[in-house]
Amino acid sequence: MKRVLVLARTFGKYSNEPLKLLQDNGFEVERRENVDADGLKGFDAVIVGVQKITREMMQNSSVKIIAKHGVGVDNIDLEAATELGIPVTVTPNANAVSVAELTIGFIFALSKKLIDLHNTLYQKRQFVSSVGLELHGKTLGVVGFGSIGKEVAKRALCLGMRVLVYDPYVEESVLRELGFEKVELDQLLRQSDFVSLHVPLNESTRHLIDREKLSLMKKTAYLINTARGGVVDEEAIIEALKNGQIAGAALDVFNAEPLPADSPFFDCPNVIMTPHVGAHTYEAILRMNMIAAESIVDFFSG
Ligand code: NAD
Repeated sequence: MKRVLVLARTFGKYSNEPLKLLQDNGFEVERRENVDADGLKGFDAVIVGVQKITREMMQNSSVKIIAKHGVGVDNIDLEAATELGIPVTVTPNANAVSVAELTIGFIFALSKKLIDLHNTLYQKRQFVSSVGLELHGKTLGVVGFGSIGKEVAKRALCLGMRVLVYDPYVEESVLRELGFEKVELDQLLRQSDFVSLHVPLNESTRHLIDREKLSLMKKTAYLINTARGGVVDEEAIIEALKNGQIAGAALDVFNAEPLPADSPFFDCPNVIMTPHVGAHTYEAILRMNMIAAESIVDFFSG
């Protein structure tokens, strides 16, 4: 009997369907929270969320397939997997709508100052002087026009926003047809009222938004990051938030997760933060569960 190790915390949590799919196809499933260098030993397949999968772990095991529960594979040593002939699958599109909706939620929360107003009222202080913004007519810059970026851009257009896109791998004509403008990154940063990041974390995107890039943004603009913490230089963002270089930020992802209790972000009143929950909806979780389980079943059934 083939054995599947489940490291993704939400796999099978809200529905038995994905577990049943594996079991009906003759797989034995074991769930663990964390594993060490020998943790993959004795398993044929692994379903992984954000846990690091290192070369050593792969070498010490006979794992034949790694199914990523999500799309960001920066926690998996892909070079080692390729060298060892271990395919790594992802769950494309399964969470794009959920992450896009969180992004739009962030845009509303920032522009209407929802968190501030809620907190003020919650402290029984009724009088608030803060004034919000209309989104209609404002400019959104989408960095990375893949599954998530596209869903964000479409929704922003419906809100009456102008949408600029920076993605060197997408044709200008494709964007123009959809009603978006293809621009270079610097132009996007200079012109946008909201900048939203949707690129994978890799060597070309690490610290894509650094001190210099932040200095191009309008002082009234907001930065939204639901991609990966490493896409931005966190020190530079904290500086920009504190010295008013940008108006604020909304962050779902961080370099260190969970966010350490002494993180300087806690001293920035103009930041909204969520603990990496972009894909945490019942719908997205079930889709990711099923695609990950199906990729294992398909792999072993040839
Ligand atoms: P995707 O692969 O569909 O799209 C990524 C896009 O980025 C592609 O269009 C690609 O051309 C573009 N790109 C790559 N390098 C670039 C660069 N240097 N500059 C500009 N564009 C570049 O991926 P997706 O499904 O849209 O997801 C994007 C990222 O969002 C994932 O890699 C993941 O890290 C993150 N994510 C976060 C959550 C969350 O819970 N917050 C959930 C899902 C995904």
